[in-house]
Amino acid sequence: MDLRNGVELRSLGTSPAAFKEDLLSNLYYRRGTTVESASAQDAYETLALTVRDRLAERRARTAAAHYAANPRWVYYLSAEYLLGPQLEQNLLYSGTAEAARTALEACGFAPDEIAALDVEPGLGNGGLGRLAACLLDSLATMDIPAVGYGIRYDLGIFKQEFHDGRQVERPDDWAFQGDPWEFPAPDDRQVVGFYGSTSVVGGRTVWTPGETVLGEPSHLLVPGYGTATVNIVRLWRAQASEASFDLTRFAAGQYAEAVQDAVRAENISKVLYPDDSTPAGRELRLKQQYFLVSCSLRDIVRRFRLRNGDWADFASKTAIQLNDTHPVLAIPELMRLLVDEEGLDWDHAWSLVRRTFNYTCHTLLPEALETWPVDMLGRLLPRHLEIIYLINAELLDEVRARFPDDLDRVRRMSLIQEEPTRQVRMANLAVTGTTRTNGVAALHTQLLTSTVLRDFHDLWPDRFVNVTNGVSPRRFVRLADPLVSALISDGLGTDRWLSDLSLLSGLAPLVADASFRSRWRDVKRANKAALGLGDPAALLDVMVKRFHEYKRQQLKLLHVITLYHRILAGGYDGVPRTVLFGGKAAPAYHAAKNIIHLINAVAARVNADPATDGLLTVVFPANYNITLAERVIPAADLSEQISMAGKEASGTGNMKLSLNGALTIGTLDGANIEIRDRVGADNFFLFGLNAAEALTLRSGDYRPRDHYAADGELRAALDVISAGAFGGVGQEVAASLLDRDEYLTLADYRSYVDRQSDVDAAWRDQERWTTMSILNTARTGYFSSDRTVADYLTHIWHASPVRVDA
Ligand SMILES: *Cc1c(COP(=O)(O)O)cnc(C)c1O
Repeated sequence: MDLRNGVELRSLGTSPAAFKEDLLSNLYYRRGTTVESASAQDAYETLALTVRDRLAERRARTAAAHYAANPRWVYYLSAEYLLGPQLEQNLLYSGTAEAARTALEACGFAPDEIAALDVEPGLGNGGLGRLAACLLDSLATMDIPAVGYGIRYDLGIFKQEFHDGRQVERPDDWAFQGDPWEFPAPDDRQVVGFYGSTSVVGGRTVWTPGETVLGEPSHLLVPGYGTATVNIVRLWRAQASEASFDLTRFAAGQYAEAVQDAVRAENISKVLYPDDSTPAGRELRLKQQYFLVSCSLRDIVRRFRLRNGDWADFASKTAIQLNDTHPVLAIPELMRLLVDEEGLDWDHAWSLVRRTFNYTCHTLLPEALETWPVDMLGRLLPRHLEIIYLINAELLDEVRARFPDDLDRVRRMSLIQEEPTRQVRMANLAVTGTTRTNGVAALHTQLLTSTVLRDFHDLWPDRFVNVTNGVSPRRFVRLADPLVSALISDGLGTDRWLSDLSLLSGLAPLVADASFRSRWRDVKRANKAALGLGDPAALLDVMVKRFHEYKRQQLKLLHVITLYHRILAGGYDGVPRTVLFGGKAAPAYHAAKNIIHLINAVAARVNADPATDGLLTVVFPANYNITLAERVIPAADLSEQISMAGKEASGTGNMKLSLNGALTIGTLDGANIEIRDRVGADNFFLFGLNAAEALTLRSGDYRPRDHYAADGELRAALDVISAGAFGGVGQEVAASLLDRDEYLTLADYRSYVDRQSDVDAAWRDQERWTTMSILNTARTGYFSSDRTVADYLTHIWHASPVRVDA
């Protein structure tokens, strides 16, 4: 197939003149307006189209090269993508940032005002969704044929506002104005079934769904950096079939009833679910998961068939990565397609399925290991439950054969939990139906194989590998921090570090270069000034991430109150600090929302007290997202990574901050350990219990009140909170810490607060701090998501690059 139909594609110019010509042409012919009457939104959408065209041309060449190569594809299935703003990315990757600015100005448009109209698609909650986006970025940069599959939620992650200090959630209608970056592909629409029953016809099982919904795809371009490759992320949106509109009822004036079936169908892709969902929404969430899986697998099969005729080749042409358990229904769904629809025998199908799929586990919290009620799954997906039972029977035979008479083990490993209610265990299904299961940091993988998935590790040790997370240096260094990027390129004499981040090690000798050092400090200062929160001379102490008790924002808050008390007591000898919090709490997560409320109350008090002037400021900009992360991270001096050891799978915020020269204060948790190993113990502020100590303490007789009784500063901080000095929520937060303290906040308090004094001492010696900061950047090149993808390729995907001619 010649995707160009014999026509040479016109290479679109990247000079200011060529860009301007196309901009005007697009304004007239595609937007249908003129320079004189164009609104800012007209200008923005026209700009987006003009940039997009330049990537679309590369996309067409990429598709042709991939088609010709018939390679092994990497398909990434994820319920979440936190892609970040598209305009700045696509300007950078198409090499048109300067030309666009010049062209816009020549037409009388204000480039910054227009760029501000770009809305980030917030189709994810946090780290898991951002990892998906970083991996796609690296796959394209490394010329790997890959497609990301996800859901095009109408409403993304909620917008956070503060009303009297409380989190209020507002719907995020991100595509309200239309999304100029998207390519709809209605021809590739799929039909998805739900409910109904199964029967056996001529030896084959047939599922007759009771309800069908259409899945309509559109895609966004995922350009590679420094290469012609442009991959895509394909997002599915649920649509009612035409027949679901009831014309008779409409004619009878029953308007709501006339559309109720259509509304129910379209609800499937209406909202991104918060991670802690309520029981009421459970079935809808399960529907979302199957919707994603069903549409994506049919699309993958369609793509396979373009070049291949034999199912025996399927696994060698297809590697599907399951990002956490949300898409794990893909395992029984592919079995169903192969056995019921294609007529393969069970064993052949199972061998293909197992060789096709791999699974990334993202958690250690037992409550986050997904299960679905057997009743619900059986009603919604009757054939899939049958298939899960069949898989389970084979699994349990294998377990019994290997561990005779170990009934307890059989019960633990079963795909079906029996007590207290019957549930399907999605993580067990994921490990059983894949070639590899990976954790996302060294400690995480080690804990997975020794705790949560230990039985499976005993049975199949070779299935487990570690792939430490990473972040895109394009997004989180180059786009987030153009100043430091220019300085790094200058220092290294090349910008090749953007696609080979190990080159950052070349910065280490520059710690001896006085001019480089002073420019490094100037950049940090300028970034803080640009952020505009607090005095740029003060140490900017940053804790940005989702609010969760295990992440321990409450520990940071106790430190803030302790500093405040020290200031009030007079003779304060700490350095001036701006403490910045950022992050959202799941709407139903009461305890996390209390902590947000309390932080805002403390901030109001501290900032209003003249005693703190020039010493301590607490800021909490609302609605932490990629856009805000890109402003905060380059300005940060200190990175707070203070989760209870053994709870954070990896973290990626820790990597972004360290790469941008922030020093970390942290526990031995997640990837903090690997960061510390690389930057050196002298350049990292370690505190607190390690994972083994924390586990021992938690499983013994931990008494938080002993710490309260023994530590005067801790007592003072908890007392003012309990006494309601910062409002009523304080009592709840303090009581939870004093009575349960599930995450050992009080046990780690003294170690943390004392280590913060070492931070002060380091900051006072600005020369020392600068050295530490430069070394953090120089030594964290390992945390590029390019390295992560290289690890996935070596250990899991075994796919090769396909070069696209420039
Ligand atoms: C990186 C990132 C996260 C993940 O942060 P952690 O500190 O690893 O939890 C969450 N949200 C946004 C917007 C991010 O950019």
